[in-house]
Amino acid sequence: MAPPVPGKRLIVTSSPPVLDALVIGAGPAGIGTALALAAVEDLTFGVLERGQIGQTFLDWPAQQTFLTPSFTGNGFGATDLNAVHPETSPAFSLGTDYLTGGQYAKYLRSVVKHFRVPVMDDAEVEAVQQCGDEFEVFSARGPVRARSLVWAGGEFSHPLTPRIPGAGLTTHSRDAEAWREHRGEVVVIGGYESGIDIACHHVAGGATVTVVDGEHPWDAQTGSDPSFRLAPRSRMRLNAALSTGRLRLVDARAVGVKRDGDAYVVRLGDGEALRSEEAPIAATGFGSGLGPVEHLFDARGDGWPELDEDDQSTLTPGLFLSGPAVRHGGLKFCFVYKFRQRFAHIARVIGERAGKDTSALEMWRTAGMLTDDLSCCGVECAC
Ligand SMILES: Cc1cc2nc3c(=O)[nH]c(=O)nc-3n(C[C@H](O)[C@H](O)[C@H](O)COP(=O)(O)OP(=O)(O)OC[C@H]3O[C@@H](n4cnc5c(N)ncnc54)[C@H](O)[C@@H]3O)c2cc1C
Repeated sequence: MAPPVPGKRLIVTSSPPVLDALVIGAGPAGIGTALALAAVEDLTFGVLERGQIGQTFLDWPAQQTFLTPSFTGNGFGATDLNAVHPETSPAFSLGTDYLTGGQYAKYLRSVVKHFRVPVMDDAEVEAVQQCGDEFEVFSARGPVRARSLVWAGGEFSHPLTPRIPGAGLTTHSRDAEAWREHRGEVVVIGGYESGIDIACHHVAGGATVTVVDGEHPWDAQTGSDPSFRLAPRSRMRLNAALSTGRLRLVDARAVGVKRDGDAYVVRLGDGEALRSEEAPIAATGFGSGLGPVEHLFDARGDGWPELDEDDQSTLTPGLFLSGPAVRHGGLKFCFVYKFRQRFAHIARVIGERAGKDTSALEMWRTAGMLTDDLSCCGVECAC
C-alpha cells in the first residue's frame, strides 16, 4: 500500500486520536473541503480514499471530457470553473480548457501535493457508526474516530438505469463498453448532457444514433442554469451531429428492452420499436451514492439526501455532505463550480464548533467560492 501523502496533520495510528474532522473521498469535493478545513487554525483532519486521488476521473472512459471549460480568470475574481482552491487553475497547470478525466486527476494530485493535504489512499470506508458525539469510521486501513464527518464519496459508483423491464440489458454511459466503437444503429436512452455527449461521440464514429427521452431535454430553452439546459458546447456538438443526418432525437419514453435473436429491441411509449445490434446505452445519470453513510441520512421526497442549511444530515448532526448530491429546494449542486461554493461554509461550521479561528476562509468568498445565502443562486441571465 502506498504511504499517506506527507501532511501537517496525519491520521490513522494503532491507537487513533480523535480528529476534529474526517473527509471520506478524494475527488474534487473531498479535496476541496479538506483544503478549506486546512484554512481553519489548528484543526486536525484527514481524508480517506478507497482508490487513488481523483479515482473517479481515472475511471472515466478515455473519450470523456469536462463540459465546463477551464480558464485562468483567477486574478480578476473569476476563479477557474473547475478549481477546488482559489489559488489554483487546471487551465494554468495543464494548459487545457476541456479536461479529460486523467488530466483532472493529475490536477487534484498536484493540489494535494502543493498544499500538503493529508490523504490516505487504498482506504475504503466500509462502515460508519455514531458513538455519542463522535463517529467511528472503519476503513480498509484501520479505524478512525472524528468529531465531524464529511461524506464526499461522489455518485459515480451509483449509476441509475431506467426503471423498465429489460433495463439489465443496457450498458450505462459511465462504462468504457458504451464508448467503444459502435457500428450500425445505436440507441441511447436519456437525452440530457451524458446522452447527447455519447450520441455525438458515436455519430462522429460513423454510427446512426437515436436518442429517446420523453422529457426532450435537448429542447429546454428556459432558465440559464446548466443543470436544466444543455451547455453551449453540448449544443454546438448536437447541431453538428444533427447536420450529418445520422442523429434522431425522439420525444418518447422507453418502456422496455428485450433481446430478439442477436439484436436488441427498445420499445417506446408511442408504440415504435428500435432495433440495434449493440446493447442500448442508458444515459440515465446517477443516484446519491451515499454508500456506508446512507443510513445516517433521511431522504427527501425525490430521494435526494435531506440536509439542513449547513449541508448537514437532518438525522445525524456532525455529518456533512459535500458534492453533487447536495440539493436545497430546487437547486442542484451537480457541477464543481456549484458544489465548491459550500466547501468553506462546511469548514466554517466545523471550525466554529471546535472553537477555532475561521477568518482565513473569507479568502474563498473574495474568490467567488463561498455562498452562504443560497437565495442568490436562482438569478437568471437577462440576455
Ligand atoms: C462524463 C462526465 C462529465 C462530467 N463533466 C463535468 C463538467 O464538465 N463539469 C463539472 O463540474 N462536473 C462534471 N461532471 C460531474 C463531476 O464529475 C462530478 O460532479 C464530480 O466527480 C463529483 O465530485 P466528487 O468529489 O463528489 O465525487 P468523485 O469525483 O466521484 O470522488 C469521490 C471519491 O470518493 C471515493 N470513495 C467513494 N466511496 C468511498 C468509500 N466508501 N471510502 C473511501 N473512498 C470512497 C471514490 O473513489 C472517489 O475518489 C461530469 C461527470 C461525468 C460522469
